[in-house]
Amino acid sequence: MFYPEPIAKLIDAFSRLPGIGPKTAARLAFYVLRMKEEEVIDFAKALVSVKRNLTYCSVCCNITDTDPCRICSDKTRDMSVICAVQEPKDVVAMERTREYTGQYHVLHGAISPMEGVGPDDIRITELVKRLGDERVQELILATNPTIEGEATAMYLSRLVKPFGIKVTRIARGLPVGGDLEYADEVTLSKALEGRQELF
Ligand SMILES: [Zn+2]
Repeated sequence: MFYPEPIAKLIDAFSRLPGIGPKTAARLAFYVLRMKEEEVIDFAKALVSVKRNLTYCSVCCNITDTDPCRICSDKTRDMSVICAVQEPKDVVAMERTREYTGQYHVLHGAISPMEGVGPDDIRITELVKRLGDERVQELILATNPTIEGEATAMYLSRLVKPFGIKVTRIARGLPVGGDLEYADEVTLSKALEGRQELF
C-alpha cells in the first residue's frame, strides 16, 4: 500500500474493527475523506463520548450514562425477576418484545473454556450478590442458544440452586447457534413465554 500516511492510518484503524477486512477498511476511509468536516467531527466526538460518558450500572452491569441505569431506577418494574443476558444489546432485544417488565443482569460474555473465558471473567459474582435480595423469586437464563450460552446457563443453574429461587431457561425455538439480538420480537417473546424451570 502506498497511501499517504493519514489515510493509511485511518484504514489501519478501521481494519481493527470486528468484521472489517482491508478492502472495506479502505472504502470506509475514502468515504470519510469525502464527508463534510462537521460530519467527521461529529463522528469523532461520538467515538470519544462512548468511552468518556458511559459507565457500567452498579446494579445490573449494563452500560449506562446514569448510575443506576434507567431500568434499575424504574420503580414500576417487577423486582421479583431477573433476566440474565450475555450482552447489553440483548437487553435491547428483550425490551423490544415489550413483554418483559422485570430486571436484567448483563454478564458481559459467556463461559468458554476454548477461549479461556471462565466464570470469574464474566459478571457472575455481581449476579449472585443480587440473589440475596429476598424480593427476587425467579432468575431467567437468557444466554444465547450457542455452546457457550448453554454452558453458562448450566453453570448458573447449578450455582444458584442453593438460593432456592426458581431458575428458568428461555425456550428453544430460537435459532440454534444464533444470537439473541438477531431473533425477531415474536420469536423472542415466544421463547420468553415458553421458558422452563431447570430443576
Ligand atoms: Zn442497571
